[in-house]
Amino acid sequence: MNKGTLVVISGFSGAGKGTVLSQVLARRPDLYFSVSFTTRPPREGEKDGVNYHFVTRQAFQERIERGEFLEYAEYVGNFYGTSMAVIREKLDQGIDVILEIEIQGAAKVREKMPEAVSLFLVPPSFEELSRRLHGRGTDSEEKIQQRLETARREAKEIVNYDYIVVNDTVDRAVGEILAILIAEGCRKERR
Ligand code: 5GP
Repeated sequence: MNKGTLVVISGFSGAGKGTVLSQVLARRPDLYFSVSFTTRPPREGEKDGVNYHFVTRQAFQERIERGEFLEYAEYVGNFYGTSMAVIREKLDQGIDVILEIEIQGAAKVREKMPEAVSLFLVPPSFEELSRRLHGRGTDSEEKIQQRLETARREAKEIVNYDYIVVNDTVDRAVGEILAILIAEGCRKERR
């Protein structure tokens, strides 16, 4: 049996990852979305075991020491990590797995599993990103400027990804990701 494909998706804060990804998963219920571990407290409406496994810093540290993570990273003061065991199990069963992780984690995954396929989701322009971040109305001007600054720094890493998907409209971005998954599925047969 063919192994599943490991798909890594990253994108700037405000690029619309959440919306795009939920539509991709709705269209491809056979994909397994990896639920990460995090030390960040749950936001309103988030459920343990669904959005994340919410754990204490100590519990996270213990998992690091036991070597349980495929990758982990610190991002704005919190730790985030991907459990190795579940992913291996799914890939061995021939199930494609999606990780939605930030750039440091994506770099580690590429190092450990070079066969992984990586996608970076970008907004059409920095002006549009700024407009979307302001439009959300959830952050102060200072926080928005920080996010934009982070995005400009992260932009330098995009060259390391296999695919860049521009999120100008959600439908188009979802369509492109679905097309990439189909293409990669075909290529896998020849590996
Ligand atoms: P948030 O706190 O907004 O849910 O996520 C913050 C950032 O952490 C996002 O860029 C998200 O992609 C990333 N992230 C979520 N889970 C993981 C993970 O398991 N590993 C890494 N490296 N980043 C993650």
